[in-house]
Amino acid sequence: MVLYYCEYCKFSTKYKTNYTRHLETKKHLKQVEIQTKNKQEPPQNIQMITQKKQIVKEDKAKNNLNDKILKKMMYLEKRVNELETENRKILGEKNLLEILLIQFIKGKDSENKQNIDNEEDSD
Ligand SMILES: [Zn+2]
Repeated sequence: MVLYYCEYCKFSTKYKTNYTRHLETKKHLKQVEIQTKNKQEPPQNIQMITQKKQIVKEDKAKNNLNDKILKKMMYLEKRVNELETENRKILGEKNLLEILLIQFIKGKDSENKQNIDNEEDSD
């Protein structure tokens, strides 16, 4: 009965020690290297949506759910960018409003003082 099996080398053994020793052999490591390279799996950590788009394009026939998710993600990314731009605009307008309010209040103050001065003068 085989307990330990190495898929890379088609190597099998009943003994764990043999198996562990096998995993350290050059022959095994070479097989792992060759077979891992040949697999050509898509990269695991993809940051850029454009890269995701490319992969989805390649896999399109296989799965159009990815395409839907991708579209949603692209839409959300666009929306986030839009909202961030809008947010910056709003913050800019808020700052401008504050500046204008301060100027307005200051202006009102000097106007009031002038009125008071005028009233004093008229007396
Ligand atoms: Zn092996």
